[in-house]
Amino acid sequence: MVKELMNYINGEWVKPDTDRENIVLNPANQEVIGKGFHSSKEQTEEAIRVAKETFERGEWANATPGERAAVLLKIADMIDERAEEIATLDTIDNGKILEEASFDVADAASTFRYYAGLIQAPAGEVFNASDDHQSMIVREPVGVTGLIVPWNFPLLMSVWKIAPALAAGNSIVFKPAEVTPMSAMILFDIFDQIEELPKGVANMVMGEGNVVGQTISESHDVDMVSFTGSTAVGKKIMQAASGNLKRISLELGGKSPNIVFADTDLDMAVDYGLFGIFYGSGQICSAGSRILVEESMYDDYVKLFVEKVKNIKVGPGLDPESNMGAIVSEQQMNRVLEYIEIGKQEGATVAAGGYRLTDNGLDKGFFIAPTVFVDVENDMRIVQEEIFGPVVTIQPFKDEADAVRLANSTNYGLAGGVFSKDGSRAMRVIKQVRAGITWVNDYHPTFVEAPWGGYKQSGIGHSLGTYGLEEFQEVKQINVRLQPESPGWFPQ
Ligand code: NAD
Repeated sequence: MVKELMNYINGEWVKPDTDRENIVLNPANQEVIGKGFHSSKEQTEEAIRVAKETFERGEWANATPGERAAVLLKIADMIDERAEEIATLDTIDNGKILEEASFDVADAASTFRYYAGLIQAPAGEVFNASDDHQSMIVREPVGVTGLIVPWNFPLLMSVWKIAPALAAGNSIVFKPAEVTPMSAMILFDIFDQIEELPKGVANMVMGEGNVVGQTISESHDVDMVSFTGSTAVGKKIMQAASGNLKRISLELGGKSPNIVFADTDLDMAVDYGLFGIFYGSGQICSAGSRILVEESMYDDYVKLFVEKVKNIKVGPGLDPESNMGAIVSEQQMNRVLEYIEIGKQEGATVAAGGYRLTDNGLDKGFFIAPTVFVDVENDMRIVQEEIFGPVVTIQPFKDEADAVRLANSTNYGLAGGVFSKDGSRAMRVIKQVRAGITWVNDYHPTFVEAPWGGYKQSGIGHSLGTYGLEEFQEVKQINVRLQPESPGWFPQ
């Protein structure tokens, strides 16, 4: 059934107000699953105005932590109740396999529960500043927060922002990605059913990045913008946000190293290499898109990797036989295919894949074979730039220092992993990797308790954990004089 795309402003479903159509396709077969229009600058400003008024009225901002937590817990339960529906929607919207989408939905519910718990834990500080002063540090909501998300985890990326923003007492103006707006409508339907969430606290505006996203980022009535997406757009947002010096939180791209020392079990290291890059069809910011292997193991690693790549069954996300799904859109597929051509032109060797898949009923969808490049030079574009698809480069390294040098040799610093049986070496190396999310003898698991964020051009700020809540809070000191008397500074 084709769903109509709608905005949610001031507790009402309203149509996006331009005549610029947005047709949402299932990337596995190009069937239309959603249809509607983009929103205008004016409609975005209306949502911001509502969020501001709601924040100033203070019903939500001044609700007790317990009251806010109760709402978050209700949302989590309602996500669980509709888990299958939401996971199916994310699958046909994004292209990922149903199993991955189901993890995302479970994680989304956990994120609401985590922040429901965290907001009820006393978080202020009190100290005796002097004999005569009691000082307190309190946390308050930032105000109107603009939340802008990408298409790779349609529900989960939204919830990583919405849950802490609401927990902290903010009002929100949320913008989903144009190509994956479907599950957000379920999330806002859940909000709509919760009476205790005041109207106007949670608003959603569908539309283009350069209209809706830009308006949110520029608005002087927005106090903070929290963005997940590409580094290029992150830079634009930083500029747009400077008008009123709004707070920014940016979760951006990556080109993350997965470092394998020769003492590692070969089979396990290859499996993690495959998992690191091809989970989510490589459309994951933290994907291990550069595999670095110690010279003495390199040939065996590449040989086994290429053999195992052939076992990956690419197909529609709803087909239980599929291990890897579609690329989110035709535009993204073409971008990835273009990078594959660039790699070939740069002189790299395609050891596996390297083409669009159209056989066995995949011709209507956007599928790319898992692709492996070897014989790469470190300055090639396919090594330095984020491809955001199922494309990996495998490079040899000589020793520990060389591994660290290569690992840190891009503008990104989001994630990284190291595999070695020598615990001291693994620890030495991972400590030198300039990235915010790292693993030893593992790749990909992430925990709601731990901050998620990047070094260098991979971002500013963090999602998740206590850090993810603090992003959405102002910090205030209150100094109380215990024996008030004239300061006596100026002549009496
Ligand atoms: P994108 O930057 O193209 O778009 C992200 C969002 O920004 C979309 O909603 C888009 O409409 C909006 N946007 C576009 N132009 C804008 C503008 N001028 N002002 C405001 N908003 C604008 O990214 P994408 O292609 O949707 O997603 C892929 C990117 O996201 C990759 O680079 C990936 O690494 C990154 N990502 C990062 C993380 C992380 O946690 N660091 C997580 C997921 C994805």
